[in-house]
Amino acid sequence: MIIANWKMNGTKQSVATWIEVVSNNINKKNLNPCIFCPPSCYLELARRLIDENGYSIEIGSQIVNHSSGNESLTGGINTTMLKDLSIEHVLIGHSEQRNFLKESNNIIIKKIEKALDDDLSVIYCIGEDIDAKNKDETHLFLSKQLDVLGQVQSTHEDKLKSITVAYEPIWAIGSGLNADKDYIEKTHEFIKQYINDHLGWSHLDINPAVLYGGSVNLVNCEEIISSNNVDGLLIGGASLNSETFSKIYNLS
Ligand code: PEP
Repeated sequence: MIIANWKMNGTKQSVATWIEVVSNNINKKNLNPCIFCPPSCYLELARRLIDENGYSIEIGSQIVNHSSGNESLTGGINTTMLKDLSIEHVLIGHSEQRNFLKESNNIIIKKIEKALDDDLSVIYCIGEDIDAKNKDETHLFLSKQLDVLGQVQSTHEDKLKSITVAYEPIWAIGSGLNADKDYIEKTHEFIKQYINDHLGWSHLDINPAVLYGGSVNLVNCEEIISSNNVDGLLIGGASLNSETFSKIYNLS
């Protein structure tokens, strides 16, 4: 999977242009899913343009809200709405949502469960902060975030195949400082081992893909994607430019 996360950027015009340029420039023989996550207000436009033109781009939502059903939530978007728009994927646990919107692990568990119930593919984002990195506590930090998957596993064993993990060190997001190859390889190895051995997914024969995100660009993408245990990329800033994103996709 190569994912373009546009965050809070774009206009109707730039969404339309991006979809057209990327569709015309990405190598169709590359079977890696190409996933576009525009702001929510442009999801429907993206869906329509992709469907009308038969483009092979999949769509992800940057956000989903959880509601147990009775409470109201002004501005909320739920999984039923995403399914109504035929959205295929949803990002859950992005550090910007965890930090700015104070999203707790308990909320994240509920969001993942609801998304899986409604047959959405979940891109579960995890990543340590700079403090944990400096204290050499990255694995401890990540293990607490990965335990969320352990909670989901007990109720949704039959849907775990729809989960992808995106490892995004917080200090690398939007900073221009990507993690180096050695650090990425060691961390991805830890994530896969933790899921397989500690959470026991190897017994279930489920090996979720682990993507890397954090200041990926045209210069560093080849080294990152060729790193051991890196199965794809989640790209923020560099995905805004359709030609840059297409080149990164084609190099991946
Ligand atoms: C992101 O938004 O998830 C991200 C990785 O951003 P950037 O590529 O800009 O660091």
